[in-house]
Amino acid sequence: MELKSTRFLVVGAGFFGSVIAERIANDLKEHVVVIDKRNHIGGNCYAEIHPETGIIYHKYGTHIFHTPSKIIWDYINRFAGFNGYRHQVLNTYKEKVYQMPINLETINAFYNINLKPFEVDAFLSKEIQKENITHPANFEEKAISLIGRPLYEAFIKGYTKKQWQKDPKELPVSILSRLPFRKNYDESYYFSRWQGIPINDYTEVFKKMLDHPKIEVHLNTDFFEIRDRIGKDTLIIYSGPIDQFFDYKFGKLEWRTLDFLEKIIPVEDYQGTSVMNYGEESVPYTRIHEPRHLHPEKDYPKDKTLIIEEYPRPDDGTNPFYPVNDAKNQSLILKYREEVNRMDNVMISGRLGNYKYYDMTDTIDIALKTYDTIKTRYHA
Ligand code: UDP
Repeated sequence: MELKSTRFLVVGAGFFGSVIAERIANDLKEHVVVIDKRNHIGGNCYAEIHPETGIIYHKYGTHIFHTPSKIIWDYINRFAGFNGYRHQVLNTYKEKVYQMPINLETINAFYNINLKPFEVDAFLSKEIQKENITHPANFEEKAISLIGRPLYEAFIKGYTKKQWQKDPKELPVSILSRLPFRKNYDESYYFSRWQGIPINDYTEVFKKMLDHPKIEVHLNTDFFEIRDRIGKDTLIIYSGPIDQFFDYKFGKLEWRTLDFLEKIIPVEDYQGTSVMNYGEESVPYTRIHEPRHLHPEKDYPKDKTLIIEEYPRPDDGTNPFYPVNDAKNQSLILKYREEVNRMDNVMISGRLGNYKYYDMTDTIDIALKTYDTIKTRYHA
């Protein structure tokens, strides 16, 4: 790898880095080097065929592509055909299965009643008033002010404590806004108009993005081991953890990661859906994935299925998945962002670089915008 003369170095081959590299090669028509410390492209969207079952699974947890933007949908469709999968989630609580996100079916089943949509507000307001929360200031208060304490404790509190290992009172309201709440029977997880799973899965998308004579990809390559060989005129586009880039000089940002436990079960269908959440704190995992349901169009084995239990835990900086966006970490990230602004030849972004809980569509959007900045600089 010739680093000294490389004009563009992209660190990280997830969505952020791959979109930038593809744009530099195809639009700017320039040579670009992409490095990733892992042995595969695709970042946390990486998918592969499970050797024993032949089922495609997402190695770092189920990823559903969903976007409200026609521009992003058209963009990603250049690299993939999508199946018609629309995401639905269920939640097992005390040995009973409920619909998730909380909707009218969840409320009626939980309270064993039969409300009509126009009766929901009056019913829930009795629960909500008991708590007397006038200005919800954190995750817990916001949730209770929307749905009341009993639903919160069944479906949100335990899951959130397992996921974040924090008292929900310490978490920001923004995490809750990811979780829809419906007063009708709509059981789709996302409102987004455009949704699906790439038919040949995400790895194919990344292969197509990066398959270009002007893109040089180096896997198993750690930025921190090659950084002193980088030329001074190279523009570094870095999508790793921002605190690591600066050798943690202001302190470490907190991340959450996930462990996955794969199991092969000798039945065709184990849980009838791709993701089953578990709200109770006494169940050690947060959810079980059954990836065969992501591809109803595929011919999968009838005598076995793959399930994957998900266990959240703190991350030591080696495998970050989720930023812990509490007040302490928010003030730390501001310091790091100020450092980036002082640097000329470095751009830091993506989920890990911006310390933001981005979905895939957000990451692509921010990558396309970052590319526009690169292009303007290049032509200046
Ligand atoms: N959440 C919850 N109960 C659930 C699912 C989600 O309380 O059954 C909360 C939890 O705090 C979680 C957040 O909603 O961290 C966002 O959930 P999402 O499904 O978007 O998480 P992701 O798929 O990004 O891990």
